[in-house]
Amino acid sequence: MSEQKATNITWHEGSVTRDERQKLLNQKGVTVWMTGLSASGKSTIACILEQMLLHKKKHAYRLDGDNIRMGLNKNLGFSAEDRTENIRRIGEVAKLFSDAGVIAITSFISPYKKDRDAVRTGMKAGEFIEVYVQVSLSEAEKRDPKGLYKKARAGQLKGFTGIDDPYEAPEKPEILIETEKTNAGDAAAQIAKYLEDRGYLRE
Ligand code: ADP
Repeated sequence: MSEQKATNITWHEGSVTRDERQKLLNQKGVTVWMTGLSASGKSTIACILEQMLLHKKKHAYRLDGDNIRMGLNKNLGFSAEDRTENIRRIGEVAKLFSDAGVIAITSFISPYKKDRDAVRTGMKAGEFIEVYVQVSLSEAEKRDPKGLYKKARAGQLKGFTGIDDPYEAPEKPEILIETEKTNAGDAAAQIAKYLEDRGYLRE
């Protein structure tokens, strides 16, 4: 599905460099990749983080699971193959945003390690920050803000991550958020601090 089909194409270098874009924005382009079970809090934390960064005058942009599935990826479902293609496309889009100098915040379950690692491999060192938004399955089922676990348990939703499809947790994420111990605001602040401490919020 993702093989190179077109031939006779070459990457066109522009005359504005990434460094120049970063100077303009006074920040470094980076991808903050949130992964975790449904209802772990990825979207909630991503929204707060985006706003926090805006208040610091930093240009961040969220790429969110359901929103992307309504547009760019509307032709993809939840089979293993479609999940892989979903993540590959998001990865490519996040990479473009990062190259543009923007802080891309992605919130997708992204359950398969090999798919996340493929996105990481496609980026420069330090450009991909994996954030494991951790929650136990029992707590996720208690939260269930969209009623999806209930449907999956009732057999009305097949291949749901954590129920009858696997979630492969990151082994060495750059950031671990333990959402049963940390509220969403503190979690967003933890990520913002990581970005600040490592120099992403300046050119
Ligand atoms: P996801 O994007 O991972 O599917 P959502 O952000 O849509 O998750 O939903 C997570 C739900 O859990 C929200 O209703 C949120 O208010 C709640 N929640 C409870 N504790 C936390 C926490 N510590 N961090 C984030 N969300 C939390």
